Amino acid sequence: MESILKSLNCQPPQQQSLFEAELPAVTGSPVEFDRYAYDKYVVMFSGGKDSVATVLHLLDIGIDPNRIELWHHDIDGHGESFMDWPVTSDYCRRFAAAFGLPLYFSWRVGGFLREMLRKDQCTAPVMAETPDGLIQAGGTGPQNTRRKFPQVTAALSQRWCSASLKVDVGAAAMRNQPRFLGIRTLVCTGERAQESAARSKYLTHEPDRCNTRSRYVDHWRPVLQWSEEQVWDIMKRFGVRPHPAYYLGFNRVSCAHCIFSDCHQRATEQQLLPTRFKRIADLESEFGLTIHRTKSVRQLANEGTPYMYEEEVAEQAISTKYTVPIRIESTGWKLPSGAFKQGSGPQ
Ligand code: SF4
Repeated sequence: MESILKSLNCQPPQQQSLFEAELPAVTGSPVEFDRYAYDKYVVMFSGGKDSVATVLHLLDIGIDPNRIELWHHDIDGHGESFMDWPVTSDYCRRFAAAFGLPLYFSWRVGGFLREMLRKDQCTAPVMAETPDGLIQAGGTGPQNTRRKFPQVTAALSQRWCSASLKVDVGAAAMRNQPRFLGIRTLVCTGERAQESAARSKYLTHEPDRCNTRSRYVDHWRPVLQWSEEQVWDIMKRFGVRPHPAYYLGFNRVSCAHCIFSDCHQRATEQQLLPTRFKRIADLESEFGLTIHRTKSVRQLANEGTPYMYEEEVAEQAISTKYTVPIRIESTGWKLPSGAFKQGSGPQ
């Protein structure tokens, strides 16, 4: 698994956008890491608990909210709902609105489905919302064929979803916005060391993959040393209601049909989203290669037991509208059933 994460951290080829070719280097960059010394704080915001804790921590330590923005990478590419929780985008929107923070979506055109079904085509371009409108980047690579799910394996070429649909999307969005030239930007992500041996070796801060002479970008993992308990505690203190998937019993909010789902999660997915589940199962048959490699999603679901949950929460999770308040009185805050549960994930 460690090698999987290493593969996730592979640096894409360094690209320099056209805007920065003639610009002078950003000077006066802090030698010692000073979390207050940045003009812009970009939080990669999935809507999961660790990214929520990251935002709340920034606010807690007094970072100026006017310098913070949230970026959400839409796995389904603003297209057909296929892999992600239908409610995730709206949960992110409501969270950002509740804290008065700007939220920008970015995605690979066609999302997971288009990338997976690619046949003699190049990888689709990235679209990114910016304060000045929508931008497009890439989409001119070599033409080839994918036609298989990401595999639960260490090889990045086979386990392609996170890199193609999240990491590369964020990097393209950053590299193609001239507003990040000549300022200091801190990219903040919510990995925690407790999640895995691999993550425990991550650095708390380091130069970001988008850092160049003229675009100063650092990467900070503010909750890297936090326990899960600390994460729930800060959500409770700020009265933030967690994503509905946690109340269904999931410990991680990833894609609803994450390639790392265990048998109980597969059984729950099948019960909650039967049409999408069947499509995934049918595609596994069509490709002749399953996600898990030795078991199909149907076999896994048959081995598992669906989580117990309230119908009202299920309706929230599979809706495209998040209709309950994000913030509630901390006295009414309820720890979700997915908290502290052993789950499966890419960490
Ligand atoms: S959450 Fe799972 S399926 Fe979705 S991109 Fe990450 S690893 Fe892939």
